[in-house]
Amino acid sequence: MIIGIDDTDSRKGMCTTYLCAVLVDELKKQRYGEVSTPRLVRLNPCIPFKTRGNGAVSFEIRLNKEKEEEVKEVVKARVSGLSELSEEGTNPGVVFIDDTVLNAIGGGEKDSESVLKNFYENAVREVLTLEDAYEIISNLHLDYFGLKNKRGIIGALAAASFLVLQKTKPDCYDFTYELVAYRRKERWGTSRFIEEASVWKSDAATYPLTWDTVDVANRKTVFAPHSPCPVLFGIRGDSVDAIYKAYELIRAEPEERKMPFVTNQGTDFHLIMCEDAKEKLEDYHSYVLDGVVGSNPRTVEGGHVVFSTLLSGKSEERSIECIAYEPTKGFRDVIRKLRVGDEITVFGSLKKKTLNLEKIELRKLNLVEERNPKCDKCGRTMESAGRLQGYRCKRCGTYRADKDRVSIDRGIEEGLYEVPPVARRHISKPLVRMRMEMEGANRKIHPSR
Ligand SMILES: [Zn+2]
Repeated sequence: MIIGIDDTDSRKGMCTTYLCAVLVDELKKQRYGEVSTPRLVRLNPCIPFKTRGNGAVSFEIRLNKEKEEEVKEVVKARVSGLSELSEEGTNPGVVFIDDTVLNAIGGGEKDSESVLKNFYENAVREVLTLEDAYEIISNLHLDYFGLKNKRGIIGALAAASFLVLQKTKPDCYDFTYELVAYRRKERWGTSRFIEEASVWKSDAATYPLTWDTVDVANRKTVFAPHSPCPVLFGIRGDSVDAIYKAYELIRAEPEERKMPFVTNQGTDFHLIMCEDAKEKLEDYHSYVLDGVVGSNPRTVEGGHVVFSTLLSGKSEERSIECIAYEPTKGFRDVIRKLRVGDEITVFGSLKKKTLNLEKIELRKLNLVEERNPKCDKCGRTMESAGRLQGYRCKRCGTYRADKDRVSIDRGIEEGLYEVPPVARRHISKPLVRMRMEMEGANRKIHPSR
């Protein structure tokens, strides 16, 4: 049986991953059956009504049919007991996918599999309603449980679906790991004690197999939250050995427990590719779009940097506003160097018709600058002889039809750039993870760390 859970936390406390860790430990201890490594699934990061990171969880427990009901009761009791029910935005949901459905999918039943696949993918890329989830629950005869308006059922079904797909098609989705350490209850809400030097040491010993533990350029550790939630810190990476090695090097307050998760963090799965983007780009969706810089960047109030991009490959040329917000820090220095005519690919989420940049690829820099020609005789800059009339030297009377085209130094390299770890979304793929594939494709990456 696969169990998906979501929306048990609030901004003030709890964390759905903690509830999951407690449940996994409890179910293991009670020997109901073998429990899998849990999944942590990040859903569409632009959804307006999310709590914090918009993450849902799931895990599998292999057990005898007669124990199923008992386990469901344990899950319901923990979700009811640990959720932040007094908070308005907390609407827990739990979905159970039992062995009848799993065995059918494992036996090659394609319809249910594709229904769950579409639901997971849409939960990360589109905006789903509770009705979308109920329709699948009803069609597949799934058991579920919810509290208050039960909105968490959407994420619960998505997280459960992700695990189903990983089981049936192990290579189907890119994934990474996070090892999360949790605080002892008496410390919740107090400031975290973590020896900073040990964090830097841990990062240095394991990067790039672990990433987004620290932000070197901004001199900050970014692996621990500042909220009153039970999370002490989380170590993200591409290798189980590396995240445990990093963990061993960290000196911090005593923890209550720790739990490894398999996750879609760091994969860019939220991005809809350019060619798949519908004619109409919609708010609350994230895209990868090819285009050409249409206006030189300008810094606006608050330190944000904006420019427009003329989108290519569409039926008619369209333009879209792009923005690098102030919290993206040094990334704005890259954006400020853009120039009209640069061929680029932009990566980010659309909100209020503006693309909030997460990455950019400078594919081909515009190195040509047109200048009024210089006189061959005296070397002075020639002046326009009137609209479409060419250029003339007033002193010598020499004439030239066209401007000079000179090659300029741009002070920036072509390649992929990204926002720094302090501004990175959980689901965004750090460029350092692309080092192998980009090398083969002869594309340069400029990882921010
Ligand atoms: Zn002259």
